[in-house]
Amino acid sequence: MPEGLMRLFDSRNIGFRCARSVMRWTKRLVQTQLPLALEAPQAATDALPYLQVRRHPRARRLSIRVHAGGRVVVVVPRRSSARSVEAFINEHRDWIIRTSRKLSPIEPLALPSHIELPAIGRSFALDYPGSHERRVRWAERGDTLVLHTSAEDAPASMAVLRDWLLAQARRQGPAQVAAIAAETGLEPSRLQFRLQRTRWGSCSSRGTVSLNACMLFLEGRLLRYLLLHELCHLRHMNHSKRYWDLVARFEPDCRALDRELDDAWRRVPAWVFGHLA
Ligand SMILES: [Zn+2]
Repeated sequence: MPEGLMRLFDSRNIGFRCARSVMRWTKRLVQTQLPLALEAPQAATDALPYLQVRRHPRARRLSIRVHAGGRVVVVVPRRSSARSVEAFINEHRDWIIRTSRKLSPIEPLALPSHIELPAIGRSFALDYPGSHERRVRWAERGDTLVLHTSAEDAPASMAVLRDWLLAQARRQGPAQVAAIAAETGLEPSRLQFRLQRTRWGSCSSRGTVSLNACMLFLEGRLLRYLLLHELCHLRHMNHSKRYWDLVARFEPDCRALDRELDDAWRRVPAWVFGHLA
């Protein structure tokens, strides 16, 4: 598996699908036999982040997955004992803390007063005038984004912000993709935008390119690289040398940009991940 990349087969098995993903942070290890309780942290900085523990009937091993935003999920086979789960977590606590920190937003979770979207060179000031029971829950007035939600209800406001972000991506994204398509001659048969926590984008064997609305938080050259990465999969549905040669023809710095994209999750504001179910 090339660094930073993961191969997936989609649910209908129609073929190869590339996922420009953070899932390489998944750690799969055999279940440990040492029954230990979770250790108390030595200092506040050693505290474990919040962990979601999920029993999965088909899981054969314990695994830990750290998602963009720093969310940690421990997947547990049906018959594992609580003590073995504790031991597994204790054994990997340094890795969990380090990886979660690496993928956690730099800014703490809060309703923003400003939103910067470097990908389209725009900056919005937020206005929260309060709820008016309107059906339209947000409105743009020039460089001001007005949110008609209750100021006390931060989770609801963040949900509206996510709706707005997705609408922005759907409005601004196609032109960005069209520019790269014109440059490369690689045109997706279908383009879709979604808000996702596990990947920047993907390309299916049917020629559908899916892009994460979080791409709006990327600087221009990183966004360009992401779009190039996905469009080049229309020619090569793999990460072979021929694939990378094609990417490098349009972007000689592609390997460095690929690593930079892994770290760019940290620039996505916490409200994008904060209250997603
Ligand atoms: Zn890829």
